[in-house]
Amino acid sequence: MGFLKQIICLYFLVVATIASAKPLAVSYTQVQYIGNVKIDRFTLTSDTLLSGKTYKFLIQGGLHGNERETTKFVQWLSKKMASGQSSLSLLPAENVVLDFLPIANPSGVKSLSRYNDRGVNLNRNFPTLWGLTKEYPGAAPFSEAESQALRSLFIKEKYTGAVDVHGYVNWVVGPSPLKERANRTQEYSAWTSLLKKETSKLGDYEYKTGLELGDGGAFEDWAFWEQKAFAFCLEMSSAFRYTRDKEDSWAIYEKFILQMFTHAISLSDDRAPGYAHTQGTLPDLPSKLN
Ligand SMILES: [Zn+2]
Repeated sequence: MGFLKQIICLYFLVVATIASAKPLAVSYTQVQYIGNVKIDRFTLTSDTLLSGKTYKFLIQGGLHGNERETTKFVQWLSKKMASGQSSLSLLPAENVVLDFLPIANPSGVKSLSRYNDRGVNLNRNFPTLWGLTKEYPGAAPFSEAESQALRSLFIKEKYTGAVDVHGYVNWVVGPSPLKERANRTQEYSAWTSLLKKETSKLGDYEYKTGLELGDGGAFEDWAFWEQKAFAFCLEMSSAFRYTRDKEDSWAIYEKFILQMFTHAISLSDDRAPGYAHTQGTLPDLPSKLN
């Protein structure tokens, strides 16, 4: 662990210890799959995590590296959560694990680019509806180390829910309708109805899907359909980009995420015991990156 990472971890631990009524354990790891891509991961759990059912959630920013506010928002939210000051603390702490990935596209964040350093739009590199895009989606689904890292993380953690934060347009993007997945029609309908309902409370926001936008290979489509996580993409508004009272604006998104994660927990409880999240381990991957 580098010096900077140690400082960040120390900050989390001190804040969590001093300020929280319910201290959260914070751990720092990196997600790595193939190649040299390492993605920072901050995991927040209660010290008193119960041994029963655990709900795991992923909060991700910076998949498009030029959308800097998304990284700042996810960092802000993770620190607030660690201090016990976030409304996400209203989730049942003894049963919840939160993973924060503020920089999902490290090379893109470094160079302020929408793409990774291989010119790929990572939010088009996932297999669901892959190829439906005007941007370069990579040579094949999961051709990129960053998306592979996310895949290995999902297979390991079996997330109940996930949000991918983007900017800047007033949209919430939900999973696209896929007719051939008839066995999950009911769950799809329940989740997207709730997403639409909560989106309508955001004011001048619109609800979209990757399919209607022509954006195939998106994170939330894969996370919902292939990993069975209650997933969505939250676009931060352009209006909030330069506003002075950023934290007030960000709190609106914090509340939205809380509401959707709460819905995800209740939908997850409707599933049969032993529900299988994924199709298995890691098939069809290139042995190394080009
Ligand atoms: Zn984006």
